[in-house]
Amino acid sequence: MRFASLGSGSEGNALLISATSGITETTVMLDCGFGLREAESRLSHLHIDPKQLSGIIVTHEHQDHVGGVFRLARRHKIPVWMTHGTFESVRDDAAGVAVHICRDGEPVVIGDLEIQPYTVPHDAREPVQYTATDGIRKLGVLTDVGHSTPHLMKALGGCDALVLEFNHDTEMLSQSVYPPWLKARIGGQLGHLSNQQSADILQSVDRSRLKRLIAGHLSQKNNSPDKVRLAIDEVLGDSAVEVVIADQAAGFAWLESGA
Ligand SMILES: [Zn+2]
Ligand SMILES: [Zn+2]
Repeated sequence: MRFASLGSGSEGNALLISATSGITETTVMLDCGFGLREAESRLSHLHIDPKQLSGIIVTHEHQDHVGGVFRLARRHKIPVWMTHGTFESVRDDAAGVAVHICRDGEPVVIGDLEIQPYTVPHDAREPVQYTATDGIRKLGVLTDVGHSTPHLMKALGGCDALVLEFNHDTEMLSQSVYPPWLKARIGGQLGHLSNQQSADILQSVDRSRLKRLIAGHLSQKNNSPDKVRLAIDEVLGDSAVEVVIADQAAGFAWLESGA
């Protein structure tokens, strides 16, 4: 199982997850916050034709995640999965697209991939994040979450690879030019994870199989890759885990979920 990103951050998110068994390959996209042309161009950089996508899985209705889903899905006849609450927020845009409802605790099987939705605290109607497995490796994804919960810690345990939000540095956010209401939203219980919160999650999660950590959804104004690396180093130290920082402009290239 391998995975790659078209871009990560508040300007747009999309992740690809791909599994191969024998001669078949299943590729799904997790969120699409990019317009049609942009998404197609970013896909081609990762050597994926939109027609190869077996599904688009949506985490929640914020535009940086769902903004480009329906145009891409409609044009290339790709089925879409999302929670009922997310669908209620976007149903006006969904005409002509096959939408399947998913929910926490019920895995979605698409080809060679099993995708498991799990509920997270975030200021959307029914936000979920996902883990994915090909039966051998496990990839965990967690972005857009205000605080850790026992439920998400359990969901993310035992991953071979982890895409984890490192949204903001608390000090930079408090000093930033953002209006007070926005600072409160981002730093609040239903907002985004600070570097420290993410490091705490990394510290406590079952990392016994972890080979690769990708820091994602970094704020371009209230964080820096250096600060993120420092926070990660505090936890991982000189362990053999490979660390990658996802970029808004370029995402990250294909990575193997295992060794
Ligand atoms: Zn987001
Ligand atoms: Zn969000």
